[in-house]
Amino acid sequence: MGTFTLVFSDIADSLTRGVETVQDRVSGALFEPVIRLGVTGLSRAGKTVFITSLVANLIDRGRMPQLISAANGSIRAVYLQPQPDDTIPRFDYETHLAALTSPTPHWPSSTRSISELRLSVRVQPSGILGTMTGPRTVHLDIVDYPGEWLLDLALLDKTYAQWCDDVLERLKKRDIATPFLTVSDGCDGADPFQESMAQKLNSSYTEYLHLAQAAGFYDCTPGRFLLPGDLAGSPVLTFAPLPRPDKVRRGTLWREMERRYDAYKSKVVKPFFRDHFARIDRQIVLVDALGAINAGPKATEDLRQAMADILGAFRPGRNAFVSQLFLGKRVERILFAATKADHLHHRQHPQLTAIMNALLKDARARADFSGAKTQAMSIASLRATVEETRNHQGQTLDCVRGTLMSGKEAAFYPGTLPDDPSKLLAPAREGADRWLDADYEIMTFAPAVLSLLPGHGPPHIRLDKAVEFLIGDKL
Ligand code: GDP
Repeated sequence: MGTFTLVFSDIADSLTRGVETVQDRVSGALFEPVIRLGVTGLSRAGKTVFITSLVANLIDRGRMPQLISAANGSIRAVYLQPQPDDTIPRFDYETHLAALTSPTPHWPSSTRSISELRLSVRVQPSGILGTMTGPRTVHLDIVDYPGEWLLDLALLDKTYAQWCDDVLERLKKRDIATPFLTVSDGCDGADPFQESMAQKLNSSYTEYLHLAQAAGFYDCTPGRFLLPGDLAGSPVLTFAPLPRPDKVRRGTLWREMERRYDAYKSKVVKPFFRDHFARIDRQIVLVDALGAINAGPKATEDLRQAMADILGAFRPGRNAFVSQLFLGKRVERILFAATKADHLHHRQHPQLTAIMNALLKDARARADFSGAKTQAMSIASLRATVEETRNHQGQTLDCVRGTLMSGKEAAFYPGTLPDDPSKLLAPAREGADRWLDADYEIMTFAPAVLSLLPGHGPPHIRLDKAVEFLIGDKL
């Protein structure tokens, strides 16, 4: 009997495992379908707030009229379930929601690494078909990861020597890189390797990356230097670019740096693309376009390039390694969403969306070419403002009002976005120092105190439309 139980549990175990692998591979076509929704964007783009509000608004669907299956009642229930991947941290939904819905609401802490959450949706299609088939369950696996990690894809095409050339060339033009360049010029790659030297170079380079990111530069690779997670301090993250010595011998600083760079590619970058990126079915790329416009033409142009690079990762054929991973599978839908649209009166949302469309035009054309459906949108995951039209010196101004981080209430007029996006994007491309015609001001609002009606999630702008585009066809 004991033997039998053992054998039986072995079989049961391998069966369950079998089911999981099949589900993962064929998106559960045979059993319950699984949609893997990737959520990415550069640091502070709004990923954490988006996922938190998305989950809350799917569980309580009172504010989701534009999600058709929610509006017509096909979605019967949505609930959180244990996620399928045991080794990825769970997205800390409960803590983030508690931050936003507390009596003294505050913004949750931002994405630092990859995390995941599984929502299961019980669907009973209406009409004859629905009554014939009965209810079914669709699993939505939400995968949150930093956009910076996608930028590392470019490293796969480069040797250490090429990467050093590129980076050092770029850094020469930036004042903030002077301290690092002084350190790297002061050491010779042909010298025998010393760990202390590697650490000194690396900490100086990482300091530069933080400054560069704060200054709005997006080309801050390797992406894990900024968000190291549990790899902090390990050799794969302890290297830096160096001028190439004439002779490269064994045991030299250059050789060890080169080895670590290669290890970073094979042990950090490739596993991310293989284990996570290649399994995504639908993707939302969040973009803080208003933040960039507020920061000026340079930041706007930088954002345009970053988006082109990020979206390049979704283009089959961009990289042989990634194409091989996808093997004919592809990301089916990609949404580019400008976040924090609650900083603007709704009359200006079409202009913001037009900027998104233009900003992403090159990249989008390539993604479209690969057969993915793409769309641009302006959203606010959590609406922190109300609209107000004010009279100012005989002019009516469309303002937004909210609570500033200082606790003060303020109404403000952020400036008028042009109808023609090239009025902003052309000077940005040409390297203008500041906007000529206008100034844009963006305030940082605190989340508003919420009093939610039963069945209602937190207030948002177009979150329902975003979800309809991303997964509406599967519900
Ligand atoms: P992440 O780094 O991509 O995870 O970004 P977060 O989701 O943490 O968002 C960064 C910051 O942007 C937040 O702390 C908020 O200040 C702001 N933010 C994000 N989403 C919204 C939104 O929908 N409305 C407003 N007003 N601010 C937002």
